[in-house]
Amino acid sequence: MKIRVLGCSGAEFPGHNPPGFLLDGSILFDAGSLTNVLDRKAQSKIRDIFITHAHLDHVRGISFLADNIIVEKRKQRVNIISIPSVLRAIKRNLLNDSLWPDFTMIPDYENAVLRYIPVKPFTPLEVNGYRIVPHTVSHSVPAVGYLVENSRGRRFFYTGDTGPTCSTWERIGDLAIHSLVIETSFPDSMKDLAILTGHLTPRLLKEELLKLKRMPERIYVTHPKPQHLKTIRRELSRLGIGSLRMLEDGETIEV
Ligand SMILES: [Zn+2]
Ligand SMILES: [Zn+2]
Repeated sequence: MKIRVLGCSGAEFPGHNPPGFLLDGSILFDAGSLTNVLDRKAQSKIRDIFITHAHLDHVRGISFLADNIIVEKRKQRVNIISIPSVLRAIKRNLLNDSLWPDFTMIPDYENAVLRYIPVKPFTPLEVNGYRIVPHTVSHSVPAVGYLVENSRGRRFFYTGDTGPTCSTWERIGDLAIHSLVIETSFPDSMKDLAILTGHLTPRLLKEELLKLKRMPERIYVTHPKPQHLKTIRRELSRLGIGSLRMLEDGETIEV
């Protein structure tokens, strides 16, 4: 499994893109970065977009992709996949014919550019030979992470945005996670804000990892606030976990 990191930042500045993780060029996890990073050819290959939650830094790319498809008269159809509450929030607040056109009705319902595919937490979906399972996480709005397994049993888990949680790790149990992409948004000094807004700090991250029955082979940190990048990096290295490192925009990780 090859995953291209389109963006892995917890905010936006030049060189720091919001979250977007592209699997095999066609399955995207979160759409915070999409049309701002991928050229026309790469955009045209996207078929499925799994959304962790409806915050703008995770969904905004859907809007511009749909617009590009229509303007270029491409035959491309894209599934927007998440739990029902997330899809409802996108429908009500983003693709609502006010902030942006409702591309699930354009050009018409039968041939629409976008289609909503609701999934239930903990219920697997098969896409392109992958088994993808949404797992509820703990954020300020309804949110899931995604567990992805290929036909050879290799697994990665992407948390999306999450604060401390026990139930997620209990559900995962002693399943081997080969690569864990987990958020750490704030430095330790901002723990109160992290808890309040459903995010992690390096110390909170370590507490989460201790809840896992099996340590993942590799741990990649995503979603840091660029304003605190140096501090977060220093605090993460102090944890002394050799298999852990921060992700970089534009890199490709192999699971
Ligand atoms: Zn969020
Ligand atoms: Zn976010």
